[in-house]
Amino acid sequence: MHKGSCLCGAVEYEITGALGPIVFCHCSRCRKANGTAYAAVSPVADANFRFVKGEEMLRDYRNAAGVHRIFCGNCGSPIIGRRENAPETVRVRIGTLDTPVEAKVSAHIFVGSKADWDEIHDDAPQYEEWPS
Ligand SMILES: [Zn+2]
Ligand SMILES: [Zn+2]
Repeated sequence: MHKGSCLCGAVEYEITGALGPIVFCHCSRCRKANGTAYAAVSPVADANFRFVKGEEMLRDYRNAAGVHRIFCGNCGSPIIGRRENAPETVRVRIGTLDTPVEAKVSAHIFVGSKADWDEIHDDAPQYEEWPS
């Protein structure tokens, strides 16, 4: 069981079962959405994810490709992403977790478009875009 929350505390969620592999996405869209060098994301089965508080506070930004970025409408914390072509999975922004995570990053994706000032200093595999 994992628990997480947004910066202001209005939104809380729970995950039953294990997290999926942790991926750092360096693409320009994740950088914009998070204001950071990359998004730290773990895929979780939709059936194992639920909001326990503040669901009415959430905002949903959908892009033209059918990717939804769901964030707290009060403080702006990114909480999950959803893809319309993969509705069985939510992609949790694991910086919002409040419970310990033992796993480390398993892959860097979209390294081909990472920020110039972003240097990767671990041995996890790097992919230009999606892993093949
Ligand atoms: Zn919030
Ligand atoms: Zn990305």
